[in-house]
Amino acid sequence: MSQVDNVLVRIENAAKTINLDSETLDTLKSFKLVWTCDLEARMDNGILKRFKAIRIWHRSPHVDQPHKGGLRYHQDINEDIMKAHAAEMSLKSWIMGLGWGGAKGGIAIDPTKYSRQELKNITEKLVDEMDERTILGPFRDVPAPDVGTNPEVMNWIRQRYAQRRRSFEDARFAAVVTGKPVGYGFDGIPGRNEATGCGLVAVLEKILEDHKVPINGFNADNVTLAIMGFGNVGSHVAEFVGKQCPSLKIVAVSDVRGGIYNKNGLDVPRLIEYVNSEKSVVGLPGSTPITNDELLEINCDILVPAALENVIKVDNASRVKAKVILEGANGPTTPEADEVLESKNILVIPDILANAGGVTVSFFEWARNVSIKDERVPLSRIDKVLKALQKMITHSVDEVFETARVYRTNLRNAAYITAIKRATPLFKAKHLVD
Ligand code: NAD
Repeated sequence: MSQVDNVLVRIENAAKTINLDSETLDTLKSFKLVWTCDLEARMDNGILKRFKAIRIWHRSPHVDQPHKGGLRYHQDINEDIMKAHAAEMSLKSWIMGLGWGGAKGGIAIDPTKYSRQELKNITEKLVDEMDERTILGPFRDVPAPDVGTNPEVMNWIRQRYAQRRRSFEDARFAAVVTGKPVGYGFDGIPGRNEATGCGLVAVLEKILEDHKVPINGFNADNVTLAIMGFGNVGSHVAEFVGKQCPSLKIVAVSDVRGGIYNKNGLDVPRLIEYVNSEKSVVGLPGSTPITNDELLEINCDILVPAALENVIKVDNASRVKAKVILEGANGPTTPEADEVLESKNILVIPDILANAGGVTVSFFEWARNVSIKDERVPLSRIDKVLKALQKMITHSVDEVFETARVYRTNLRNAAYITAIKRATPLFKAKHLVD
């Protein structure tokens, strides 16, 4: 199955459970924008190079709010993966009660192979091409960081957009992207960088403590965790576990170069320091090297896939030993693997709930940038931002668990149902007047 089919099957399953009408189901399975373009940008050596860019919008029931979703710089992006993530972004936003339609896009490029100046040129060309087709803007489409992009890239987008638009639009240019740097004039919100990892740990604590998911008792010293991917999401999961759940031991982590293992637990502050200097987890003194495949099958209680999609598949699902899978990445588990995991009583906390911290803090940032009054938006201080995020995401955990109880279904289906039920009345109201 393709990546987008994985998501559409899950939408169909949820629709079947709640007996959704076929018109709304068809809407939920469709995309409003599928845009591709060959960007042309000048390289440091004077040569003009071309790069494939993609932007997808899933459907939105919100006529007065933008589409929202990550911008990925990775050599393997394609329309299929971007469509899947755009649909997941809609569902994730609706679970959190955010009035957006999902989007996703990116450039097929390995950013590690280009200079900073080249990446800036390429990013500016993307803004030019999107703006010329009026598919970028604070109330049209608001990108955010994803794999291979960061606050600096978001700032380049904001600058370029403002330079192009300042003579004929109002002054809310900062709201054209979220995940911007924090500091005077940059207009980012403290906590956005940490948000997805912080949200994942809040979800984990909630399910272990309040929903009493049994894993050796949460405060026991022998609960172990493994994280695949040690970028923004994975490293912040490690950081927040270290700070908030000291009884939980991180025994394995990995990145694109490979993984490391220590059955007694890795020292998180030392690991983060090591990664900052060596740019990889590989080679941390006192750890044993493992492969990414071995990490997925390692003896641990909680597995956090936080790299790319489709890593837990039917071929390896039966060898997963974790009791809980907390999905940090988007789409790390295939529907076929879900069935195997369920038959083994492994609890999957689905991506559209678990990793919704990023989109939530993006909402706080965007709402502040456009001066929308919303009682959920906290003061621009990291402690207030993360607290507001934890409150919203744990509330959604309760909602999804309640949906799972009512429909006697698993958490993935319950999360899809929660999202779809929230958006359906608005879609119906919209289609009446369309
Ligand atoms: P990132 O670029 O900061 O980090 C990605 C990590 O994955 C890096 O450590 C990289 O080395 C590793 N990696 C890449 N390819 C790999 C491979 N083949 N095997 C093992 N590791 C590999 O990206 P990120 O922002 O941390 O995003 C990670 C995942 O989380 C993505 O699926 C993304 O869509 C999802 N996500 C991110 C956010 C966010 O706020 N950044 C929000 C929600 C979901």
